[in-house]
Amino acid sequence: MQQDAPVRLSRDEAKRRVREAGLRATSPRVAVLQLLVAESRPLSHSEVVERLSGRDWDQATLFRNLVKLAEVGLAKVVSRAGGISRYTASEGGDDTHVHPHFSCQSCGAVDCLPGLSIQLPKDGAWRDAIRDAELQVVGTCPDCRASA
Ligand SMILES: [Zn+2]
Ligand SMILES: [Zn+2]
Repeated sequence: MQQDAPVRLSRDEAKRRVREAGLRATSPRVAVLQLLVAESRPLSHSEVVERLSGRDWDQATLFRNLVKLAEVGLAKVVSRAGGISRYTASEGGDDTHVHPHFSCQSCGAVDCLPGLSIQLPKDGAWRDAIRDAELQVVGTCPDCRASA
């Protein structure tokens, strides 16, 4: 699968963003934000737990921090494929995370499909409706196809 060069958010920069959002910059909170920024795909709670498994934080702590980051606009749920919320980092404001997501029926991973952008209507009731809609493509992802 083609991977873009990972975007890195320094620990200090992550702390600054967390504090600017009015939260205390606790270690797990900062680490979760750094992880969401570094990942090119939306992550579920269990994927966050898996990726931060070397650390001392329990699942509940990581879950609370995901929810907290979403509450203050630093993260956003962009997919609910299979009833599972998946999060990406969010810059807040004019969010441009408007594209379909690919949900693999084999491995369960959800990927962004930024190449498939959606033309939002300029105005009218449908603009906000489509912005909030979950557009999901389902099938077998390239990784699973390659290993089939
Ligand atoms: Zn797959
Ligand atoms: Zn996406």
